[in-house]
Amino acid sequence: MPPSPVALPRGLPKSQYEALKMFTKILIANRGEIACRIIDTCRRLGVGTVAVHSDVDANARHVDMADEAVSLGGATPAESYLRGDAIIDAALTTGAQAIHPGYGFLSENPDFVEAVDAAGLTFIGPSAHAIRAMGLKDAAKALMVKAGVPVVPGYHEAGQDNLAAEADRIGYPVLIKAVAGGGGKGMRRVNAAKDFAQELEAAQTEAQKAFGNAAVLIEKYVSTPRHIEVQVFGDGTKAVHLFERDCSLQRRHQKVTEEAPAPGMTPEMRDAMGQAAVRAAEAVGYAGAGTVEFIVDASDGLRSDRFYFMEMNTRLQVEHPVTEAITGVDLVEWQLRVASGQGLPATQDDLSITGHSFEARIYAEDVPAGFLPAIGTLHQLQFADGARIDTGVREGDEISPHYDPMIAKLTVHGPDRATALAQLTRALKATRIGGTVTNIGFLAALSEHSGFAAGDVDTGLIERDLEALTKSTEPCTKTRALAAVAALGLHRSVPAFAGVSLWGGVEQTARFAFDEDETARVETLSPAQFRVTLPDAIHDITHTDGTWRVDGSKTAASVWCNGTQGAVFWGETYPFIVVDPLDRAAVQGGGDGVTRAPMPGLVRVVDVKAGAQVKAGDRLLVLEAMKMEHALRAEADGTVAEVMASAGDQVTAGAALVRMEADD
Ligand code: ADP
Repeated sequence: MPPSPVALPRGLPKSQYEALKMFTKILIANRGEIACRIIDTCRRLGVGTVAVHSDVDANARHVDMADEAVSLGGATPAESYLRGDAIIDAALTTGAQAIHPGYGFLSENPDFVEAVDAAGLTFIGPSAHAIRAMGLKDAAKALMVKAGVPVVPGYHEAGQDNLAAEADRIGYPVLIKAVAGGGGKGMRRVNAAKDFAQELEAAQTEAQKAFGNAAVLIEKYVSTPRHIEVQVFGDGTKAVHLFERDCSLQRRHQKVTEEAPAPGMTPEMRDAMGQAAVRAAEAVGYAGAGTVEFIVDASDGLRSDRFYFMEMNTRLQVEHPVTEAITGVDLVEWQLRVASGQGLPATQDDLSITGHSFEARIYAEDVPAGFLPAIGTLHQLQFADGARIDTGVREGDEISPHYDPMIAKLTVHGPDRATALAQLTRALKATRIGGTVTNIGFLAALSEHSGFAAGDVDTGLIERDLEALTKSTEPCTKTRALAAVAALGLHRSVPAFAGVSLWGGVEQTARFAFDEDETARVETLSPAQFRVTLPDAIHDITHTDGTWRVDGSKTAASVWCNGTQGAVFWGETYPFIVVDPLDRAAVQGGGDGVTRAPMPGLVRVVDVKAGAQVKAGDRLLVLEAMKMEHALRAEADGTVAEVMASAGDQVTAGAALVRMEADD
C-alpha cells in the first residue's frame, strides 16, 4: 500500500487536523474483522477510534484495538449493534466527529444516516437519499434504466397481481427476487410454469419474514451466470471506478471466494462495465465507497453487451481487500478522506491494476453437515505468512452463536492469476485452526479445482462439484499415529530435567476418533520419541523443536490437543476427539441412534412421533440457529424410539433430540 499523504501521529492539536481536513476521532459502529480493519487505517492516519460493543463482545479484538470503547449491552444485534440512538449518544459523549458503519448492521439504513446528520455528526458513507434510491431492487432498476445502465430483462413494477403471466412473458427459467432482498433471502429459481405458484409463495413468505415486505420482482434467469461487480467511489457528484471483482464462486447465492481482476476480462468490457457503474453512482449523487453488482451472461465468453445491473451495495464490501491489493488503494482511507471533505483522492486516469488477487472467507462451519454454522473456542489460530489476514478474533477467542461465524478473510496478491492461486492454496493449507470445525478444507479443494484454475468460473461451479469439493480425506496411518501421541498429551514439551531413563518403555493406550472410535498403543521411548502401534501400522515418531518426524522423515505436520478435542494439521486439518473410555456417547454420530443439536438453537418443527417409521434422509425436525433453519434428518432407516424435544424448545449444543432404533 502506498504511503499515506496524511500520516500524522495521534494527539496533534485539533486545528492542525482541521487544516488537513481529517477527523481527529471516529466511532466504528460495528464489530469483528471489519471494525478491526477500519481501526488499522485510522491508526495509520492518526485518527482516534471509539469502538462500541455488546456484552458478549466486551473483550473482543476490536474493543482491544480501539482507543476507547463504549458498551451497548445485550447480546443480539437488536440489543446492541442495531441501537442507532445509543451509538449516536456514544459518539457525542466521546467527542467523535464521525461514524463509520462498516458493512451489515446499520450500514445501509437511511433512517440511521438521517439521525447521524441530525446529531451534527458525519456518516462515513453515502447520503440517506442515495441509500433509499438503491435500497429496493425494483426502484433501483427503474432508476438504472433511466440512467442508461443495462438491467436484466424482467418485471420490476409495483403491481403483484399478474406475476405468473409476467413470468410466462419473460420466458423460463426465471428468478423470483424479494424487492427488499439481500443475502439471497426471498430468492427462488423457477424452471417451469407449473412450479411458479409454489415457488412464488415460498419467496413471498421468506421475504415477509426477513424484510417485512413480501413484494417480489421477476428476472430472466441468466444462463452461465457470472457475478462481476465494480468498485466505485463518489464525492457526491462525480465518481470513479476501481475496476472489477469476480464473485462468481458462490454457494446458495453467497460468495465463497472473490478475485480481482475478473478472469477473461477484456479491455472493452472492463471499460463498458466501469462506465456503467460510474453512471449508476452518479445517477444517485453517490458519496463514498460503493459496489455496483452486475450479472454477466458468460455462455459465449465475456461480451460487453451481456452484462446487467443487479443492485448497488451502498457501503464497503466484505471482499474489498482484493481491490485494494490490485490498485494499491486503501479504500477505508479514501472513505475517511472523502467524508472529511477532501474530495476524491485520485482521478480515473491515476488508477491502474497490478497483478491478481484472491480472497477466501474462512468460517466456523460444519461442511459435511451441510455447511452448518459452528461455534467453539479458537484454541489454536495460526495463519500463513505472506497473506493478508483480516480478522476480528485472536487465539483463545470464542466463535459465539450470536453473530456471523466468520473467522478471517485471507487475501493473497501475486503477479499473475496462476501464481496468486498457488499462493491461495498454500496459505489455506498452512492455516491452523483448532477448537472448531472450519471450511478451510473446502476452500483449499476449491482453490485446486481445475475449472477454477482455468478461469471457467460461474455461479453454478460449486454446486455442480459440491461432492468432490466437500469430500474429506481419510487420515493416513501416520496422521492417526500423531493423533494418538497428542490424545495422550505427549505432544507438549517436556521439562528438560525429565531423565530419559524414567521414560523408557512407558506404555499407554490412546483412544481417539476421527470418524470412528479407535485405539492405539503408544510407547514412550524418551520424552520426545514414541512408538505408536495402530491395528494396521507401526510408526516411530519424534518431536524436536516443533518438528515432527515420522519413521525418520521430517514432516510438515503439527498437532494440537486440549484433552477433549484435537487436530493434526498436515496439508489439511484432521480434527479428532479424545474418547473418554467411560463415555462412549462422547463420539458424535457414534452409532447410538441419537440425533443431537449441532449447535444451540430453537426447535421450530418436530416432524416425527415415537413409533414412526422413517427412511434415511427423512426430516426429523427443524432447528433454527443463527437466523437460519437447519433440517436434521434420519441417518438410516428405522423406528423413532423417543422424541426428546418439542417445537418451541430452546436447546443447547449436543442436546439429544430424537432417538432412533435401526431396522435390522
Ligand atoms: P441478494 O441481494 O439477495 O444477495 P442478488 O440480487 O445480489 O441477491 O443476487 C445474488 C446472486 O444470485 C448473484 O450473485 C447471482 O449469483 C445470482 N443471481 C441474481 N440474479 C440472477 C439472474 N437474473 N440470473 C442468474 N443468477 C442470478
